[in-house]
Amino acid sequence: RTAAPAGLRTEGLTKSFGGVRAVNEATVSFRDGQINALIGPNGSGKTTFFNCVTGMIKPDSGSVIFRDKEITGRAPHRIARGGIGRSFQLCRIFPRMTLLENLLVAVRARNLRELMAGSRQPEAVDRARELLVRVGLDHLENAEAGNISYGQQKLLELAGVLMSDPDTIMLDEPAGGVNPALIGRIGTLVRELNAEGKTFLIVEHNMDMVMSLSHHVVVFDRGRPIAEGPPSVVQSDPRVLEAYLGV
Ligand code: ADP
Repeated sequence: RTAAPAGLRTEGLTKSFGGVRAVNEATVSFRDGQINALIGPNGSGKTTFFNCVTGMIKPDSGSVIFRDKEITGRAPHRIARGGIGRSFQLCRIFPRMTLLENLLVAVRARNLRELMAGSRQPEAVDRARELLVRVGLDHLENAEAGNISYGQQKLLELAGVLMSDPDTIMLDEPAGGVNPALIGRIGTLVRELNAEGKTFLIVEHNMDMVMSLSHHVVVFDRGRPIAEGPPSVVQSDPRVLEAYLGV
């Protein structure tokens, strides 16, 4: 792949909780059009980094820049409108609503009125049905989301992220707690969506998935990147092994 412009980057991003610097002057960039992975030992700041980028948390200092525009500290819905979608480590769905209803409320909305208006549009229903076909859950359209398997809920959440057609998609542990067959399906979907032009940034502990899927891997330790590059390079970097072994 040839060098594309940096899509999403941070400069000196810092966020502390009490005395803990969860993200510590992290300067990282992720190119548009790639499948990027963010890995690192537990507590290395990956989730906090995600939350700062998507506006769930305000960083103490540093900046988040998306396509040459500074978006630091903006509200989550504004960042989403700008084209960055995300999923959550602990899948966020509405268990008592049907799969179709879940997708209809997954649209970007600032308030309840906007949400209701958006979800009644026939185009939204068409899009929701298309996406259910895409993730292989169309036969469960009217099932309650709480009654499908955890892996299927992750696929539903991904479909929800796709409802607003983001061009950059951040996934927090898409394979966590998911059975191998569905991990395969999630991987295939990510690859297909990437081939259609979507950029991915994935936090994931499943190394088989990370190494087989990613173009670019960034390794975090103690709140900042310590190594990055293609999977084969990162895998054989002694600093990465050290970070995981905690030496
Ligand atoms: P990772 O996602 O890599 O496991 P986190 O971003 O969850 O790492 O955590 C990084 C550090 O920040 C850890 O030491 C964690 O205990 C701390 N931390 C994260 N969120 C909070 C919070 N809301 N309050 C206090 N400490 C936190």
